[in-house]
Amino acid sequence: MNCDESKHKCQLLIDDELSEEEISPLMEHIESCYKCRDEYIGLLKLKKKLSGIKGPAPDEEWFETLRRSKGRRFAGGAGFILMVASWLLLAGYALFTLFSESGEGLFVKIVVAAAVLSVIVLFITALTDRIKESKTDKYKGVMK
Ligand SMILES: [Zn+2]
Repeated sequence: MNCDESKHKCQLLIDDELSEEEISPLMEHIESCYKCRDEYIGLLKLKKKLSGIKGPAPDEEWFETLRRSKGRRFAGGAGFILMVASWLLLAGYALFTLFSESGEGLFVKIVVAAAVLSVIVLFITALTDRIKESKTDKYKGVMK
């Protein structure tokens, strides 16, 4: 285990999010590495300080209003879809005119096609990553 890995796992351990089998390799590293030991002790002290502080928590009614605002969520979703659709139509129209009517050279057409293709590939990659992540998301159901 290197120090970067160790620092990350120290934070997880402090937050009780480290799995059982990861704890002992981390402890071995902390025992042999003074930098990470200091880091771990610092985090422990910080946690102790923070646990004494109780922030104001919103009451149940506040959560209820969040859950109830389906109309608001629907309006937000519809607005987003309209925006994306209009942008796609505009981009499609611009591409159509570029390739069918304009007197632009072949080079410009190839560069634009490559740029559009790269955006599509990036979007699909991000979307598939998000879908894969959402299946194993341990914060699923946690309110933002
Ligand atoms: Zn270390």
